[in-house]
Amino acid sequence: MATCAEAELTFSIQPNPAPASDETRAAVLANPGFGTHFTDHMVTIDWTEGTGWHDATIAARQPIALDPAAAVLHYAQEIFEGLKAYKQADGSIALFRPDANAERFNQSAERLAMPTLPEDLFIAAIEKLVELDKGWIPEAEGASLYLRPFMIATEAFLGVRPAKTYKFIVIASPAGNYFKSGAPAVSIWVSEYTRAAPGGTGAAKCGGNYAASLVPQGEALARGHDQVVFLDAAEHKWIEELGGMNLFYVFDDGTILTPALTGTILPGITRKSLIALLREEGLTVNEGRYSLDQWRADAASGKLVETFACGTAAVVTPVGKVAGKDGEFTIGTGGPGQLTRKVKDRLVAIQRGQAPDTHGWIRKIG
Ligand SMILES: *Cc1c(COP(=O)(O)O)cnc(C)c1O
Repeated sequence: MATCAEAELTFSIQPNPAPASDETRAAVLANPGFGTHFTDHMVTIDWTEGTGWHDATIAARQPIALDPAAAVLHYAQEIFEGLKAYKQADGSIALFRPDANAERFNQSAERLAMPTLPEDLFIAAIEKLVELDKGWIPEAEGASLYLRPFMIATEAFLGVRPAKTYKFIVIASPAGNYFKSGAPAVSIWVSEYTRAAPGGTGAAKCGGNYAASLVPQGEALARGHDQVVFLDAAEHKWIEELGGMNLFYVFDDGTILTPALTGTILPGITRKSLIALLREEGLTVNEGRYSLDQWRADAASGKLVETFACGTAAVVTPVGKVAGKDGEFTIGTGGPGQLTRKVKDRLVAIQRGQAPDTHGWIRKIG
C-alpha cells in the first residue's frame, strides 16, 4: 500500500538544459536500431527505509553516482521492466498495459526482497517521461519508444541482507522495427544449461537471470542459431522458454499450447494478451507441459504446425528450426506460419490503435 506521502509524491521536473539538437534526434529516429540511443531525460525516485519513496525527479539523462560498495554491484539486487509507447493511428501516444508491468514489477520486487512501488507511481513516472520526451517516438511502421523502468539497491554495505536504500529509474530508447522486413523464422538451440529452477527467480524479471543466460545464448550463436531455449531444471525434459520470450505451439487440430506458469517461467504480458486474443477467436489455448521429445515427434508427424515466441521487444517471432545435442528438426515449412502472422497482426493493430481496444489495454498519454 502507498503511504500518504507516496500517494502525494509530486515530480520535480528539471528540463535538460542541453537536449539533443533537432538534427541529431532526426538522425536517430531515421534509424533507431534497438537499445543504443536514449532520450534527453530520465526519472529517478529514491527509497529509504523508514521514509519510503521520496524525491521523484525528471531531469537530464546522466550517469548515476554509486558508492563502490552499493549492494547492487555485489549481490545483484536489481529488477527491471520493458514496455513500449506507440504513436497511434490518430497521432496520439499510447502505452500498452502499463498496469500489468507495474504489477509484475512489484512481484519481482517481492522476490528480490526489494520495496514495492505504488502502481500509480510506476505508471505516472512512465507517462511523465514519455510526455516530456515525446519528440523521440519514431513513427515508422513497427517502431516505438522502448521504456526501461528498473530498480537497484544503492546502500553501501557488504553484508548479505536486503539493502536499506534503493533507486527506481526510468530511461527511454527509440526502437526501430525489430525485424526490418517482417519477422523471419528463427533457429533455436536447446541448451544443456538451465535458466530457472523450482524455488528460484525464474518468474522474476531480474538482471541476474539474464547474466546467467549469456553463456547459453553465446553457445547458441556460436553454433549458428538465433536464440537459446531452456528445458526445466528438474527433469531436463519439459520446454520452458527462450532467454527472453515465451513459447506457443499450434497443432493441426487447431488447438494451441503454451507452457504453464509453474514458477520457473516469466509471466509475459505478450503471452497473456495472446492467450486472450486467441480464445476470443474461439480457439482452444491450453496451458500445460510439452516435452522436447514430443515436440520433435509432433514436428516430424505434422501434428505440430507452428511454433512462435513472444515478448515486448520483438512481439511475435516464428520458430522455424530447433537444434540440440540429439540433432535438429524443422517446424512446418521452416518459415512463418499462418496463425503466427495473424496473431501478430492482431496484437500490433491493437497496440497501434488501428483496431478497437475492447480489453482496455491501451492507455493514452496527454
Ligand atoms: C520479459 C520476458 C518475457 C516476455 O515478457 P513480455 O511481458 O511479453 O515482454 C519472457 N521471458 C523472459 C525471461 C522475460 O524476461
